[in-house]
Amino acid sequence: MNSSPPGAPSAPGGGLPWWRDGLRFECTQCGNCCSGPPGAVWFTHDEGVAMAAALGMPLESFMQAFARHIHDRWSLTERAGPRGMDCVLLDRESQPGKALCRVYAARPKQCRTWPFWQRNLVSRDAWARAAESTPCPGMNGGTFFPAESIVKRLLDERQSEEGAKW
Ligand code: SF4
Ligand code: SF4
Repeated sequence: MNSSPPGAPSAPGGGLPWWRDGLRFECTQCGNCCSGPPGAVWFTHDEGVAMAAALGMPLESFMQAFARHIHDRWSLTERAGPRGMDCVLLDRESQPGKALCRVYAARPKQCRTWPFWQRNLVSRDAWARAAESTPCPGMNGGTFFPAESIVKRLLDERQSEEGAKW
């Protein structure tokens, strides 16, 4: 690639992003990115509707069971797990050795865009730190993501927190 992808963050000094030639990632379904220190999983109204439908629940029941309002946004709740706090929709029981998302096909953008988040893409070091500290065994192997596809995920990630105001 010989030009910076549209919307891509510039490297220090305004150069091309370090990931301009793409990155590899393939989820192993370990669930590590769905657990750890307390945090938020933001979701929009449409994502709430989709998750509720995936679980066969009315939206109101889904919100009562799994959602919390933080300031002016909606997030999934958490519960204590073996690695700290698990997303409430993480299923550690169904498949031994795996931690699965109960709404995988309907998971919110915040989850779909991992690990292509701004904070992980800001530098090679940040990417390596995320892979190690999560730890995310899916980073740096498997499916190739070209820069255009990474940019799309970056833009989606930027929208996900804002869209959680409803
Ligand atoms: S930490 Fe990485 S490999 Fe594990 S579930 Fe999350 S994305 Fe998949
Ligand atoms: S919604 Fe699914 S993918 Fe997202 S944090 Fe919860 S368990 Fe993980």
